[in-house]
Amino acid sequence: MNLLDVAAKVLDQGPICDNCLGRQFAKLSTGLSNKERGAAIRTVLAMFRDQEMYKAKKCWVCNGLFDALDVWTQRAINALSDYEYDTFLVGTKVSGLVAENEEILWAESGTTHAEPLKSELNREVGKLIQSQTGKEVNFERPDIVVTLDLAENKVKLQVNPIFIYGKYRKLIRGIPQTIWFCPQCEGRGCESCKYTGKMYQTSIAELITPPVIKLSGGRGVVFHGAGREDIDARMLGTGRPFVLEVKEPMRRHFDLVKLRDEINKHAKDKIKVRNLKFVDKEAVEAVKSGYADKVYRFGIIFKKAIPREKLEAALDKLTKTAIKQRTPLRVAHRRADKIRIKRVRSATLKAMSNNRATIYIECEGGLYGKELISGDNGRTKPSLSELVGTDAQVLELDVMEVKEASHARLTRNKEKK
Ligand SMILES: [Zn+2]
Ligand SMILES: [Zn+2]
Repeated sequence: MNLLDVAAKVLDQGPICDNCLGRQFAKLSTGLSNKERGAAIRTVLAMFRDQEMYKAKKCWVCNGLFDALDVWTQRAINALSDYEYDTFLVGTKVSGLVAENEEILWAESGTTHAEPLKSELNREVGKLIQSQTGKEVNFERPDIVVTLDLAENKVKLQVNPIFIYGKYRKLIRGIPQTIWFCPQCEGRGCESCKYTGKMYQTSIAELITPPVIKLSGGRGVVFHGAGREDIDARMLGTGRPFVLEVKEPMRRHFDLVKLRDEINKHAKDKIKVRNLKFVDKEAVEAVKSGYADKVYRFGIIFKKAIPREKLEAALDKLTKTAIKQRTPLRVAHRRADKIRIKRVRSATLKAMSNNRATIYIECEGGLYGKELISGDNGRTKPSLSELVGTDAQVLELDVMEVKEASHARLTRNKEKK
C-alpha cells in the first residue's frame, strides 16, 4: 500500500487535524513538523479527491488538543512560575479516550510509520515553553518535570531535589547525627521523653535543616552523612562530609556562604558547617559508600600506671598487627555479629601523666575505636589493654578527621562544562 492510500484511509476515519494526520507518517521524513507534513499530505490528496471532504474540521483523534497547545503551554508556565529552575522536561499522561482513538486509527489505516501522540505533544509544548521562558529542555536530569494530564485536564509538576555537599564539626558531646525518636512512644510524646518524642533534644540534621528550608523554600531536607560518630564523641578537625538532599526547592541558586553563616548562627556553638557546595545526586552515594579512614583522639585512663616506653611499644605494635574485631557488644543488637579485620595506620602518644594518656590513632573506616582500647572482653584482638597488660578505658573520644575517598563525584554536572 502506498503512502497516499494509507493517507486516504486515515482521512476516511473522520475529520482529522494536520498534526494528527502528519504524525501517522512521522517516521518517513525528518525536518518537518507533523503539522507541516500533515498539511502537505492533505493538499496532495485534495487534488484528486473530493475537496470538501479534506477540509480540516475538529479532529476526532486528539479532540482539538493541537489547537490548544497555547493553553497547555500557558498552564505549564503558570505552574512553573512558582519555582526557580534552569531545565525542564514535558511528559504527557494521555486520557483513555485519546489512547483509544489513536489505536483505532492505527488499526484501521494500517500505518506503520506513526509517532505516538504524546511524544509530539511533549515536544511541541516543550518547544513553546522553551521559547517563551528561555529555559532549556533536559532529558537526563531536568530540574522540573511537567506532566500534562489529559484525563484530569491539568498540569502537574515534579520538582526534583537539589543537593548540597558540606562538612560539619560537632563541638559538644551528646548530639546524635539525625533525630532519635523516643523508643517508648516512637515519637508521639510520652512521660519518659517529657512529651518531646525524642531521646535527645536536638540532632545535627535538626540544627542544619531550618536555615536550608528558609533559603531554598524546600519542603524538607534529608541528611546523608559520611558515616557517623558516637553520640558522646565530638567531631573536630576538618569535619565530616555530608550531603543535604533538599526536597521540592522553590530556589536552586542561593548564596552558600550565607547559608553556612545562617546554619552556624542557628546552631549556636553546638556544630559548625563549612565547604558548602552544590553537587549532583551522585554525591550522596559518594559520601555514603566510602569507608573512609579516620583519625581519632582518645583520652584514656589505665587501671594501673604504666611506663611511657611500654605504652609507646604497645602503640607501635598496634600499627603492625591486623586487628581482629568481633562486633562490639554495645552495637550487637543492630549490627551483624561477625569478625572484621582492620588496620591501624598510625598511633601516636600526645600526652601522658600518671595513669592517663592522650593518643591519636589513624585507622581504617569501620574499626570500633573504644573497643580497640578496651578489648571488649577479648572480642577485639589485639587491644591496647591487652598489649600494655592493664585495663584501659576511653574517657573521651573525638573524631579529628574523616579522610575523603573519592571526590570525583562531588561536583555538579552543569558546572563541568
Ligand atoms: Zn488531532
Ligand atoms: Zn516518649
